[in-house]
Amino acid sequence: MSTTPTPADQEFAGRTALITGGASGIGLALAHRLAAGGASVVVADYDEAGARKAVAELESAGAKAAAVAMDVTDPASVEAGVRFAVDTFGALHLAVNNAGIGGPSSPTGEYAVEDWNRVVATNLSGVFYSMRYELPAIVAAGGGAVVNMSSILGTNGFAGSPAYVAAKHGVVGLTKTAALEYAARDVRINAVGPGFIDTPLLRNTDSAARDHLVSLHPAGRLGTAEEVAELAAFLLSDRASFIHGSYHLVDGGYSAS
Ligand code: NDP
Repeated sequence: MSTTPTPADQEFAGRTALITGGASGIGLALAHRLAAGGASVVVADYDEAGARKAVAELESAGAKAAAVAMDVTDPASVEAGVRFAVDTFGALHLAVNNAGIGGPSSPTGEYAVEDWNRVVATNLSGVFYSMRYELPAIVAAGGGAVVNMSSILGTNGFAGSPAYVAAKHGVVGLTKTAALEYAARDVRINAVGPGFIDTPLLRNTDSAARDHLVSLHPAGRLGTAEEVAELAAFLLSDRASFIHGSYHLVDGGYSAS
């Protein structure tokens, strides 16, 4: 069976979406999904060349898109990226705080402090900095929606990944809190919890480790970036108009047992 989603017809027309980490993997799939639904898309990424390449692909498919270099660990860079989105397309309505890194694998008692700081700075503080500057812009636009990319490890532990797991749990709590604060201002904020997804994030996973990851999913395979993008697109759309502050799995059954 095909896993390729069918984009709802132009449901994002007239809306501007900012996607952090939009040059690769899940963020790139979502950039294509939102653009197919009519959004103007700002691809914000640490990897500026990758962001420009993504924008060239989007534009050649007829979409309105722009690239901006952004390091989500740097609040000034995030603020400038949000300002760029508003200046380029006139307003910001949708945001996907998706930039993330895996970090090395080692037990908590041996985990390097600098690795902890780097992973938490990217995967948790980066989501806070992003919402810190996106939310005032979305409120100024009259409302919209935010999706924060957590993980199945936003509720489950995973041996060897203390920083990643702690950061992704933090994203779920941060999402719920911001959702409470902004629901009455017509901003819906939700989190997505993907299982292991076949993207460049897993580039350093050897075949034995990959087989182990596959075995954790009752579906018998890793997910695709497009499958995660489809859930995020739904949460960003008006079809999700009563969904606020919740955490949504797309995990091939990983969390069901
Ligand atoms: P990718 O590595 O394919 O894409 C992540 C993108 O984020 C890359 O372009 C990366 O740039 C960019 N990035 C990294 N650090 C920063 C930063 N400081 N500022 C701006 N951009 C940055 O990963 P995925 O698409 O797989 O992951 C996307 C999100 O989904 C992440 O938050 C991840 O934790 C989450 N996720 C992924 C899962 C998976 O199995 N793949 C499972 C569950 C959640 P560069 O390449 O230069 O580092």
